[in-house]
Amino acid sequence: MINVLVNGASGRMGKAMSAGIIGEADMQIVAAVDIRQEGEDIGLLAGCGPIGVTVEKDLVQAIRRSKPDVMLDFTNPQAVLRNLRLALGEDLPCVVGTTGLTERDINELRQLSELHHAPLFIAANFAITAVLMMRFAVEAARYLPQYEIIERHHENKMDAPSGTALRTMEMISAVRQVHAQGAAHEIEMIAGSRGGDYQGARVHSMRLPGYVASQEVVFGAPGQTLTIRQDSINQHCFFPGVALALRKIGELSGVTVGLDKLL
Ligand code: NAD
Repeated sequence: MINVLVNGASGRMGKAMSAGIIGEADMQIVAAVDIRQEGEDIGLLAGCGPIGVTVEKDLVQAIRRSKPDVMLDFTNPQAVLRNLRLALGEDLPCVVGTTGLTERDINELRQLSELHHAPLFIAANFAITAVLMMRFAVEAARYLPQYEIIERHHENKMDAPSGTALRTMEMISAVRQVHAQGAAHEIEMIAGSRGGDYQGARVHSMRLPGYVASQEVVFGAPGQTLTIRQDSINQHCFFPGVALALRKIGELSGVTVGLDKLL
């Protein structure tokens, strides 16, 4: 039985992942942490029956009392680094879906993970279709180095561009030379119109009600374009990837980034 502490339990992802865990025979929630909805049963929040585990605020107290095998973190970009420092400091393996961690953060966490012999797994996107979209985008970029990303998320998303867009551009950078795209002296009539600049490629972040998470990677060459598009329709699409990481975290050491490493 894998004993899971869910951090960010009252959020959209926390609730959806809790429902997933409750439905599995080989894992269970032993603690639920969030700064909201303290005292509420996580089973009820997740839309299942009560499971007798209520949301609490203090992460370290929750870890020490419930002795989980792993922390699953879906909080927010402002909270995740502190959460991971605390959890790794308690020798607790961590599976992280929260976006917004920088290279610098990950380097710090790598040292902490090694010091405490507590593996850390981070994935910007746990949906298998997103993993495939990133893989196909890297393949296309080998032949089509001019590309832009359009990513669409719900209106409450805090970080832009999305972790998936950043990860896609990082992966593409392994096969694409840094170079500017577009006209040499283009003028933005509205600041930001051309999107964010990542090594000369552009990224555009839309935030609208109705979306969960979608991304298009659009490649252009003379007389032709190629669009690779992925859509997450609801939060449940992330659970199979999360369950895989929860099952495999015990076999890992140090820091592992990307669901593709587990497939
Ligand atoms: P949300 O705002 O609905 O939920 C976040 C929850 O974290 C909230 O309930 C909030 O109260 C809680 N929280 C904030 N600070 C906290 C703290 N210090 N300790 C404990 N809880 C705290 O957001 P969401 O849509 O569930 O997304 C959460 C994160 O997951 C975001 O970073 C999002 O980009 C990311 N995400 C990742 C994937 C993936 O596949 N990796 C998929 C979807 C979303």
